[in-house]
Amino acid sequence: MLGAPRFRFAPSPTGFFHVGGARTALYNWALAKRTGGTFVLRIEDTDEARNQPEWTQGIIDALAWIGISRDDPAFEGPYFQSQYAGEHVAAAERLHAAGHAYYCDLTPDQIQERAKQSGKPGYDGYSRDRGLGPGPGRVLRFRVPEGVTVVNDLVRGRVEFQNETIEDFVLLRGNGSPMFLLANVIDDVSMRVSHVVRAEEHLPNTPKQQLLWQALGHEPPVWAHVPVLVNEQRKKLSKRRDKVALEQYRAEGYLASAMINYLMTLGWAPQGETEIVPWSKIQDEFRLEDVNHSPAFFDLKKLAAFNGEYIRAMSLDQFIDACQPWLTGADVPWTAAQYRPEIFRAMAELVQTRIVTLSEVPQLVDFMFLDAPLVDETSWSKTFGSADGIAMLRSGREALASCDWNAEALKSAVEAAGSALGLKLGKAQAPVRVAVTGRTVGPPLFEALELLGRDAVLKRLDAALTSFG
Ligand code: GLU
Repeated sequence: MLGAPRFRFAPSPTGFFHVGGARTALYNWALAKRTGGTFVLRIEDTDEARNQPEWTQGIIDALAWIGISRDDPAFEGPYFQSQYAGEHVAAAERLHAAGHAYYCDLTPDQIQERAKQSGKPGYDGYSRDRGLGPGPGRVLRFRVPEGVTVVNDLVRGRVEFQNETIEDFVLLRGNGSPMFLLANVIDDVSMRVSHVVRAEEHLPNTPKQQLLWQALGHEPPVWAHVPVLVNEQRKKLSKRRDKVALEQYRAEGYLASAMINYLMTLGWAPQGETEIVPWSKIQDEFRLEDVNHSPAFFDLKKLAAFNGEYIRAMSLDQFIDACQPWLTGADVPWTAAQYRPEIFRAMAELVQTRIVTLSEVPQLVDFMFLDAPLVDETSWSKTFGSADGIAMLRSGREALASCDWNAEALKSAVEAAGSALGLKLGKAQAPVRVAVTGRTVGPPLFEALELLGRDAVLKRLDAALTSFG
């Protein structure tokens, strides 16, 4: 290989960005960045039904979110496979001229019939020596040579394929259009790709592709097939069963930094005690040779733990910034006029320690902005369905009407009111919390009450008393 390595990421647009694809892209990116190489983005868009411009934009946006930016000098592209059909056909014709490919006019039925008669499945090479030229309905097939094809894979090791098990595969369809396998190789050749790092599902295609590289007179690239991602039942992640869209994790408030770090640890681990490490360390240490070749468990609990840690590692200002889309988006239950940034700032630290994803933020603070809390019916009926709950609501209201107004004093007041009724603090504060916030869980209560102010708190306790007392 001459010059700096050239990696590539070659997604077929599907309308969403699979987390497995994100990991493959990150592996390529880490390697391109460490080696001073290039990351080529090629959109494999030859399936016309899937050729939608917004899907390409989705890929570019998803890559940018995980730190793979078009503005980085290591980034090249995007190229679009559909624009190179002419090159694909020309290469196929060269292979034909050189005797590496031949035309065949058998219909699928005829092929099947022959296979039935011979007892050997697949295409039997019937037209190899018939000397047919191109023509309507004639496919161009690759003449697979005899012997053994050895794929040296950086992740899987040495993988041997007996050529007799590889049928003479089709390069051009009967209508002259190129097959995916051909297009994929020709693009890699002309984009001077030196390393093909991709999903394991492409390994069975690799001997065919390697044979094509060789027939075209090129040294094949370095291959690396990264293991599939599996769910808790050890089944391959699928979009029907599992949450696989990167965009969905983003919308749920996973941080890009946590996602990047987590994805890189699927099948690989940085050196040292912890897997939670900055990108710079990942980039320095990541090696394909260290990638484990067994399936990697996409563990949602572990991802959540990563995200929580990343959230807690942010400075207060970073956290407040990161929360903005969740505080000012279209889905929030309060109006723009009701939102008070200074109140959120005062609450932010209490929230930051309690959440796993940023999408949990609104429900922890909504009661601070709304005139009345959003009532969770189950919390209400549970809390106020008991005599203790109502009694505590009443005496809590009395205590809070006259105590000093700071978190410490509020806590003592509720504690004292509770113990007069024989209730521990946990039980005593629940009715107050539910009346004020609408829910049984939330941020630390007394700090929240202090911020909300006596008038608002008493108003809410009164409203609950009117309903239940
Ligand atoms: N376009 C193929 C896919 O999305 C990738 C092929 C490759 O990486 O060689 O599965």
